Amino acid sequence: MSDIEQQWKPRHECGICGVFGHEDATKLVYFGLYALQHRGQESAGIAAGNGEGISLHKGMGLVPDVFNEATLSRLNGHLAMGHVRYSTTGSSTPVNMQPFRVRHRGLSMAVAHNGNMVNSIALHQHLEEEGAIFQTAMDSEIVLHLLVRQLACNDLPAAIAKTFSCIRGAYSLLLMTGDSLVAVRDPNGFRPLCLGMLENGAYVVASETCALDLIEAQYLREIEPGEVLIINKDGLQSLHPWPPAQKSFCIFEHVYFARPDSDVFGFNVYAARKRMGALLAKETNIQADFVMPFPDSGNYAALGYAQASGIPLEIGMIRNHYVGRTFIQPTQSMRDFSVRVKLNPVRDLLKGKRVIIVEDSIVRGTTGRSRVKSLRQAGAAEVHMLVSCPPTRHACYYGIDFPSTDQLVAANHTVEGIREYLGLDSLHYLSLEGLVEATGLPAEQFCLACFNGKYPVPPDPSFTKDSLSGCGN
Ligand code: 5GP
Ligand code: MG
Repeated sequence: MSDIEQQWKPRHECGICGVFGHEDATKLVYFGLYALQHRGQESAGIAAGNGEGISLHKGMGLVPDVFNEATLSRLNGHLAMGHVRYSTTGSSTPVNMQPFRVRHRGLSMAVAHNGNMVNSIALHQHLEEEGAIFQTAMDSEIVLHLLVRQLACNDLPAAIAKTFSCIRGAYSLLLMTGDSLVAVRDPNGFRPLCLGMLENGAYVVASETCALDLIEAQYLREIEPGEVLIINKDGLQSLHPWPPAQKSFCIFEHVYFARPDSDVFGFNVYAARKRMGALLAKETNIQADFVMPFPDSGNYAALGYAQASGIPLEIGMIRNHYVGRTFIQPTQSMRDFSVRVKLNPVRDLLKGKRVIIVEDSIVRGTTGRSRVKSLRQAGAAEVHMLVSCPPTRHACYYGIDFPSTDQLVAANHTVEGIREYLGLDSLHYLSLEGLVEATGLPAEQFCLACFNGKYPVPPDPSFTKDSLSGCGN
């Protein structure tokens, strides 16, 4: 792998939130990011606009650690947007914090991005060959390089349309100038993005509805796949500049990533996860004394399973809430350690019992292998596991932090092999049909690539310089 590929390898999920038209825009975005903290714990940032320049503060760590009264009060303006970042090994560096801000020919702009562009290596190389100087390894910086080239001869809407017609992959993104907030969602709609309104008529855009709830904004609608929504003093301007594409909502948002109190892609995450559990009960038949989740992510499917099967629910593992999500740790040895810190069995409850664990997903198998062992050590007589999605066999190119296939346990093992690796008495995964049924939308509207290997947007090597003609020139 070349240096550039190595540098670009990291993919990241993130959370974004923007407010237009409120004197406390910055504070509202701060609280919005607080609600979206589960989407990224590595860094946080807010950019604010007051009609002229853009002020910015960002730092490594959690939202409340990065901001305080003093930093927030320096970010004044009626317009603000923010970002929480979640990245994988290698890119855990301050230089990649967002929003990313630039100034070009007197115009200040900033971008905050959730998703992953699949042709960023080609775009990056093309732009560098033309003389562009890059400061970061972020897709957002490519967006700004392309945009400023278009702005020279176009107005903002036309420049945005042209810029994103060069970009392939997943992007739910916020862009701001000193006086406008722009929400952009890729034509497939991989990642969520929704629109809400505050009591005073100010607009809010956020990755998930839980951010709207916290700041008491009313949910209006999703930003549509392929929509560019420009928000400024003249109100909303909605454009659909690209040909429509097949919707490809990331089903993993519902399996794991999003917060259960959010509505994502127009339906509630909690209810979908409970239905996944109920369908696991329909698809399997296991005798056990009780069912327990690996908390927190397994809670909702475990509840659905318990209610549908009649097997009692117990909380057999206690979650330590003062540790972040497991994958945040940069090395495998740290990851193992944080699984132990995070989940500890209730020994009294487990002695001599036949238990069913409900887990939302198995990625590397780290959590399962380590915690099943701990349940056995605590005296469990039988340990069965139900997983509320099918085996994750394929890499994600659209922003979910899945490792390369050599680290995905289901890419290299049969279900029987995984059962043995995790030390289980039995292991069952929810069928793909069951998973889709739990959501209530037709299968065609989802990206299911991590399960079936069918990538809605090809993960790129064929993207050549020729395809870029007219982009960024
Ligand atoms: P494993 O331990 O098998 O590598 O990963 C599975 C565990 O990680 C599950 O408990 C699941 O809730 C969680 N998980 C699944 N996908 C992701 C992800 O993209 N990021 C993080 N941080 N955790 C994940
Ligand atoms: Mg989990």
